[in-house]
Amino acid sequence: MSTGNCYFDDLRNKPEVIDPAQDEELLEVSEHMNDATQIAVKPNLTVSSSVRELLECPVCLNAMYPPIHQCSNGHTICSGCKPRVHNRCPTCRHELGNIRCLALEKVAASLELPCKYQSFGCMGIYPYYSKLKHESQCSFRPYNCPYAGSECTVIGDIPYLVAHLKDDHKVDMHNGSTFNHRYVKSNPHEVENATWMLTVFSCFGQYFCLHFEAFQHGMAPVYIAFLRFMGDDNEAKNYSYSLEVGGNGRKMIWQGIPRSIRDGHRKVRDSFDGLIIQRNIALFFSGGDRKELKLRVTGRIWKEQ
Ligand SMILES: [Zn+2]
Ligand SMILES: [Zn+2]
Ligand SMILES: [Zn+2]
Ligand SMILES: [Zn+2]
Repeated sequence: MSTGNCYFDDLRNKPEVIDPAQDEELLEVSEHMNDATQIAVKPNLTVSSSVRELLECPVCLNAMYPPIHQCSNGHTICSGCKPRVHNRCPTCRHELGNIRCLALEKVAASLELPCKYQSFGCMGIYPYYSKLKHESQCSFRPYNCPYAGSECTVIGDIPYLVAHLKDDHKVDMHNGSTFNHRYVKSNPHEVENATWMLTVFSCFGQYFCLHFEAFQHGMAPVYIAFLRFMGDDNEAKNYSYSLEVGGNGRKMIWQGIPRSIRDGHRKVRDSFDGLIIQRNIALFFSGGDRKELKLRVTGRIWKEQ
């Protein structure tokens, strides 16, 4: 049935919401009014946390942004939830109509709140309406786990993710800015079961992820090797790297700038931002009877001046 019924089912379990005790609301307000000492000692804190509660949509529990709607009894609801409640106020079940709550919108505009990544080190305080935009770009926002082989949902800062890669994904860790890696696969014709490898390099006081993956590009199976920087894009640009692969007197060289791990490995892979090796060439480099993939990839990371 419609989603509206869910809300009503919910309300039946919580009858006190249907008939809000108005005295209680008044009491709450007068409490804050009389508590002058508390407000004087902690300016804004008590006030803003109760205003913040007012700005929480009773249905989705998210912070509300304009247009904020209200029913004729004054219950508010966010613009995302309004179309889903079939014109019934989810709090009092009265007709919702189309009343905007300008007063609350204006109160919100006067609020200043800390960035939600405060616990990650961001000290920023932002006006209510620009907080979301800041948070979407905050340099303290956690990174997703860069491991490609699973649907890992771990997030954290770089030191946390480095430890996570080592401990939970058993990723190879290397110190130094040069590498010489052999990728061996006995049945290279099964590209579908994506061959992929991740190695983490530590150099210049930073961490880099070297990815090696097999994937199907249209009809053609290809291999790709690329580097990602464990940090933000503006810092990634300070580094360059080169990759080399070859055999039988031939050599392919790639030079690039590592991508930030803010870009998912799939996004980087699908933009071909790395050393691409067609399978035919890869098997040719491998030598032998083309039954086994044996690639030696060498490379170097350096810091741009
Ligand atoms: Zn909502
Ligand atoms: Zn209502
Ligand atoms: Zn922030
Ligand atoms: Zn992970």
